Amino acid sequence: MRLQDYDTRNQFKAKVIATERITPVESPDEVRDLIIEVESGDFSVEVGQNIGVLSPGRMEFGQRWHFRLYSVADLPAKTSQGSTRLHICVRRCSYIDEFSGEEYRGVASNYLCDLRVDDTLTLTGPYGLAFEPPEESDASLILIGAGTGIAPFRAFIKHLYRKTPPFKGRVRLFHGGRTGLDLLYMNDKRNDFAQYYDEDTFEAISALSNRPHWSNAIDWGSVMESRGKELWGMLSDSQTYVYLAGLEVIRDELDVVFAKIAGSAEKWMRRKAEMEAGERWIELLY
Ligand SMILES: Cc1cc2nc3c(=O)[nH]c(=O)nc-3n(C[C@H](O)[C@H](O)[C@H](O)COP(=O)(O)OP(=O)(O)OC[C@H]3O[C@@H](n4cnc5c(N)ncnc54)[C@H](O)[C@@H]3O)c2cc1C
Repeated sequence: MRLQDYDTRNQFKAKVIATERITPVESPDEVRDLIIEVESGDFSVEVGQNIGVLSPGRMEFGQRWHFRLYSVADLPAKTSQGSTRLHICVRRCSYIDEFSGEEYRGVASNYLCDLRVDDTLTLTGPYGLAFEPPEESDASLILIGAGTGIAPFRAFIKHLYRKTPPFKGRVRLFHGGRTGLDLLYMNDKRNDFAQYYDEDTFEAISALSNRPHWSNAIDWGSVMESRGKELWGMLSDSQTYVYLAGLEVIRDELDVVFAKIAGSAEKWMRRKAEMEAGERWIELLY
């Protein structure tokens, strides 16, 4: 499923009730906890679902809305007037090109982080899991969440191990979050992925460490290549699914990495085409 395939017709007006920075001031990353109130009684949402945010688009590109997804982090009780209040945690995304020095500010995350109390915004959804787990409970899964692409895997992994029958297959999660994202998704309080370390078959592998951006993919490549034998073994197995989320650019970067692991670009493209045809290669790129 692609971001542009999401149905955004269900729109709700919402209001910011509170906005608070939850990363320490000395941290280079800004993550904010926003409490948002939706007045409409028709709006109902659960923790773990995602909401869409329609931020004002870049008019120079003829884009009215810029649509992005955010996970519902917490859900306080309904207000006495029947409105729904929900929390989202947003990391302010920006990227400074090291050659031109130009700053690219992520549109929706900066819009959300700049909102003040009482400002209004437009939400869509809610939406369920971004990815559906496979039917087979013994499939092998390679999960790749680059940058904010780690977000959909939180609910996915929780769901996987709560399913009946419990999931028994091998899961390798590669994520490339920086410190801010670590705080958002893997902090001591939430400890999202660490709680699955007891599962013999689960392993989360941090691939990007302190690389400032995806375009600096050397660390990513070398971490995956160091697991090359295992990865190629999994990729060659007809029981394996690959789930991939993050910026569009990762598709090409991964092709380079996997071609090395496979031994040649032709070999990799052949295997990838087979996986795509068998619906075992699943992407959410934006
Ligand atoms: C299911 C799901 C749930 C999610 N939940 C959360 C969540 O709970 N919290 C959260 O913070 N995020 C979450 N995300 C990610 C979120 O949807 C957005 O992708 C993220 O906030 C960035 O969106 P943006 O509009 O700010 O950035 P965009 O405008 O889409 O830009 C994306 C990134 O690319 C950089 N960039 C822009 N232009 C360039 C360029 N020319 N060259 C290089 N880099 C560039 C930007 O700086 C930014 O870092 C989730 C994603 C999914 C799929």
